[in-house]
Amino acid sequence: MTSSSSSGDADIEGSHRGSDRMTSSSSSSGDADIEGKITAWLAGQQEAMVALLRELVGIDGGTYDKPGVDAVGAALQRFLAGHGIAVEVIPQQRFGDTLRAVVPGPAASGERANIVLMGHRDTVYPKGEVERRPFAIRDGIAYGPGVSDMKAGLVMNSFVLAAFARCGGAPGPLVGLYTADEEIGSPEGRPVIEAEARRARAVLNSEPARATGNVVTGRRGGVFSLLRVGGKAAHSGSRMAEGISAIEELAHKILAIHAMTDHAAGISFNVGLVRGGQSVNSVAPWAEAEIDMRYRTPEQREAATVRLTEIVARSTVPGTTAELTIKGEFLPMLAQSPGGKALFELYQQAARASGFAVEGEFTNGCADSGFTAALGAPTLCATGPQGYGGHSLDERLRLDSLVPRAQAAARTILWLERAGL
Ligand SMILES: [Zn+2]
Repeated sequence: MTSSSSSGDADIEGSHRGSDRMTSSSSSSGDADIEGKITAWLAGQQEAMVALLRELVGIDGGTYDKPGVDAVGAALQRFLAGHGIAVEVIPQQRFGDTLRAVVPGPAASGERANIVLMGHRDTVYPKGEVERRPFAIRDGIAYGPGVSDMKAGLVMNSFVLAAFARCGGAPGPLVGLYTADEEIGSPEGRPVIEAEARRARAVLNSEPARATGNVVTGRRGGVFSLLRVGGKAAHSGSRMAEGISAIEELAHKILAIHAMTDHAAGISFNVGLVRGGQSVNSVAPWAEAEIDMRYRTPEQREAATVRLTEIVARSTVPGTTAELTIKGEFLPMLAQSPGGKALFELYQQAARASGFAVEGEFTNGCADSGFTAALGAPTLCATGPQGYGGHSLDERLRLDSLVPRAQAAARTILWLERAGL
C-alpha cells in the first residue's frame, strides 16, 4: 500500500506545485481547483486508510511500553516518508519519542505561522491486548485496542498531510505532531506541545469525534497525583499498640477526598489505585493512593488544591506523615476564545461541504488540546473519525467517517483565511 502510494507521489514535484500555488493564491478558481484535487484524492484513499489503521492497531502501544509506542511511530514514519514528508524525531526518555512531520507552506507574517494536526500514539492497554482482541471489521465498524482513541485520528492526520504534500495548497506550514504519553497527562509530550502551540495559527486535535459525531469545544482540566502516607511498623499480634497504621490513615483521607466530589459543579476526585502495608500481621508502615482530580475552571482547581492540601496535612491517626506529588496534569479547554470560536465555525462549514453536520460539545474528559488552547492557539478538538467506547472493550470506529472527516480537516486548513485565521 505504502509503496504504491509513494510511486504515485513521485509523479508530482512538490516544489513546482508550491510555486504554482504562490502565484495563483489570489485566484479563487485556483483555490477551488486545489480543494477539488485534495478532496478527490482523499475520497480515493478509503482502502489505504483502513490498511494503515489495521497496521497501527496491530501494534501494542500502551503509554508505558516505549518500544511499542515507538514501533507505532516507525509505521507512521514509513507512511509519511513514502509521501515525501520530512519527519523530525524528538527523543524522549521514558515514553515514546515525539514525531514532528512538516509539509512546507508559505510562511504567514507574525509569530503564529504553523497549522498543527495533533494526535497521540499511546493507548491505555497492556501488552498482549492486540493478540487478545485483534483488529476486526464487522458491518463497516472497526474494532481493536486504540482503534478510535486515537489511531484512526493519526491515520486521518497522516492522509491530510499526504494530500497537501501531493497537491499543494496549504496556506502555511503544516505540522503533524505525534505525541506518545497523552493517556497519563503528557509529562514528556507537554513541553513539545506547548512550544508548538506558541507558534500555531490553528490546532486540530484528532481525538475521536463524539458518539453523536460532534466535535469538542470545551474540556475539563485534570490533575493526577500520588499521595504517600508514612506510619510505623509493629507486630499486629504482640505489639500492635506500638505501631502507627498508614493504611488506617489513608482510609480516612480517601473518604475525605471522595467527599469533595461535586458532579453538578463539575469537580470530581477519584482514588483509582491504592497500595500499602508489608504483611497481614504487621501494622502498615506505608500506604499510597493515586488520585484523579477533574475540574472546570482554574478557580476550582485552586480551591480544590487548598482543600486537598488540608486533608493531606491533617492526621486522624496520630504520628502519620503524608506527602502529595503531582504526577501529571491537563489544563482545561475553557469557554472558547474568539480564535477558537472562529475555527469551530469554519470547521462546521467545512463539515457541511464534506457531507455531515456537527455541533460543539463540552466533555468531562481531558486531552492535549487543553495545553494548546491555554497558550492562545485557536484549537478544535475531536476532529478525528467517529468512534466510541474508548478505554473499554467496546471501543469501535465508524469506517465511513474516515474520508469525510479527513476532507473536513483539509477544507478547514484551506479556508483558514476566510475565518480571519
Ligand atoms: Zn485520546
